[in-house]
Amino acid sequence: YFGNDTWVYLDGEFVKADSTKVDFFSQSLHYGYSAIEGIRAYNTHNGTRLFKAEPHYDRLRRSCELVGIAFPWKTDDLVAKTYQLLDKNNLRSAYVRPLVTTGHNMYLTPATESSIIIAAWEWGPFLGTDLIRVSLSPHQRPNPNSIPPDAKIAGQYVASIVATTEATKRGFDEAILLDSNGYVAQASSNNLFIEKDATLYTPSVGHIFPGITRQTVLELGKALNIDIVEKPLSPEDLLAADSAFLTGTATGIVGIAAVDGTVFPENWVDTLGATIQRAYKNLTLEKENYQVII
Ligand code: PMP
Repeated sequence: YFGNDTWVYLDGEFVKADSTKVDFFSQSLHYGYSAIEGIRAYNTHNGTRLFKAEPHYDRLRRSCELVGIAFPWKTDDLVAKTYQLLDKNNLRSAYVRPLVTTGHNMYLTPATESSIIIAAWEWGPFLGTDLIRVSLSPHQRPNPNSIPPDAKIAGQYVASIVATTEATKRGFDEAILLDSNGYVAQASSNNLFIEKDATLYTPSVGHIFPGITRQTVLELGKALNIDIVEKPLSPEDLLAADSAFLTGTATGIVGIAAVDGTVFPENWVDTLGATIQRAYKNLTLEKENYQVII
């Protein structure tokens, strides 16, 4: 996927990925002090379209602001450059990864200069298209009083990698992490919804990363008259659910078959999650009447 021969956008220019140089003394490399985004481009009826590109680049700016990384770029320009990048790489659908790194500084105060690089590659759904099996992780989400949870900062992902590695070693597809209060927070890089008695529930913001796909699901719920409640969920709530699913840009929407040994009773195709999954697909592919569809 990650071909060195592909074009990337680097600080105003398009260059080949293998011609980019890593500054060994960049804070980003030593301290995980960089910000990332993950955006998808879909091959729609209206041509190649980035889904919610503006909110993604606005979030990148906010991630940087929250931790003091300089962000001297404009959202509109970054969106335009991303379309050019897709074009240069002949990509009709793609996963797009913007990365903001900081400069030459080994101290723990922000470097004044930042750099932006945008890469894109063809990437299928992150967790596949089948129902997945997840495990409650012994690892918690980082405490929100440490690094702001809304900031998509590279260093946060060490916790995600540790949890995913632990779960996959035990044969599961993904880890579900609790927050520091013992409530269910989310998966290592996806948000979580559960269905109980014909209502959807998702953990409230505060200890989770508030995903753009999660927000889209809330909007689809309104459009489709599906009740969705944001509230703290206990591990018992999760285990007693009728069904559950994960949401994220790379993943899309994927149903969960079981948590550890507990299999969800509802047949996936009959769940509210499956309805939302179809609507999300139509929305991202800009199918006719996609705002109100199933
Ligand atoms: N949680 C984490 C930790 C993530 O990295 C992501 C992916 N960016 C998500 C949730 C889902 O967010 P989104 O829907 O904006 O992709």
